Amino acid sequence: MPQLIDAFARKFYYLRLSITDVCNFRCTYCLPDGYRPNGVSNKSFLSLDEIRRVTHAFADLGTEKVRLTGGEPSLRRDFCDVIATVKSHSAIKTLAVTTNGYRLARDVAAWRAAGLTGLNVSVDSLDARQFHAITGQDKFREVMAGIDAAFDAGFSKVKVNTVLMRNVNDIHLNTFLEWIKTRPIQLRFIELMETGDGSQLFQNRHVSGETIRRKLIDMGWTLQARGRSDGPALVFHHQDYLGEIGLIMPYAKDFCASCNRLRVSAIGNLHLCLFGEDGIPLRDLLAEDHQLDALKTRISGGLQLKKKTHFLHQGETGITRNLSYIGG
Ligand code: SAM
Repeated sequence: MPQLIDAFARKFYYLRLSITDVCNFRCTYCLPDGYRPNGVSNKSFLSLDEIRRVTHAFADLGTEKVRLTGGEPSLRRDFCDVIATVKSHSAIKTLAVTTNGYRLARDVAAWRAAGLTGLNVSVDSLDARQFHAITGQDKFREVMAGIDAAFDAGFSKVKVNTVLMRNVNDIHLNTFLEWIKTRPIQLRFIELMETGDGSQLFQNRHVSGETIRRKLIDMGWTLQARGRSDGPALVFHHQDYLGEIGLIMPYAKDFCASCNRLRVSAIGNLHLCLFGEDGIPLRDLLAEDHQLDALKTRISGGLQLKKKTHFLHQGETGITRNLSYIGG
């Protein structure tokens, strides 16, 4: 099996594919004013055939895990077909979605039947009013019901993404811990990342995941080993808890050394890093099945341009205005 490998000997098993830029939430750190089409229509996003070609090219190149993201991926009417199409390649063992959860309660069983194997739900607060204030949507109860529905549908574990914000949710660590005590939830605190649109919020709210790490260690949580297609989280375990805690700390030294992920945007550009580059266009090679070899050559050739690290420490956010168009 060929394997995508870059100039720094990092191997890439994991593709994050955005399938729409559209989002119905207005999270303070992402799209505080809501999604603006700016002349882009839904028809501009990758079609089902294009999604099949790009994910199957990656699978031929050793990708074993695909995450569907956005925008809000479940806004696509053909979302079940997208799941089934991606999963139809036998090399793709894990197919996950990152969602704001508003459609979970209604649709999660159908997603699972179509082939979805993993779920990440974004929940930044366990207080309904604070959830509303952060997301612009009064949907806390629906999202919680959606997580219950995911367990009922047969998912044995659900991952929850929580963007860590100073004096917003970092002060509620104990509430989060209580929540996962009896639930098989991996709650992942993601450090707030600076984007072009979000530098003021970053100044006010960024807090290092290191403060959470120290508290967890003091409380007897221990770090688990990481698998080759796992995402970037440091995962902690505690014998008294059914759930786990993950920490995603993009500003930590050596964060990029274990990078195993590539991204494709909803308009078909290959992004080698979440931050700071324009992306390599793939779309001209997604029109016909016979272009598969040329597509694979462009993907593996493009990967050689991947830099050793992002430059977030230098305050360089590149072109990344916000993370909605490339999937966070
Ligand atoms: N709509 C889906 C959702 O809400 O999960 C998927 C897209 S969203 C952009 C993917 C993830 O990126 C979410 O977990 C979100 O919290 C995270 N995210 C967005 N902007 C971020 C930022 N500035 N810093 C850290 N995480 C961010």
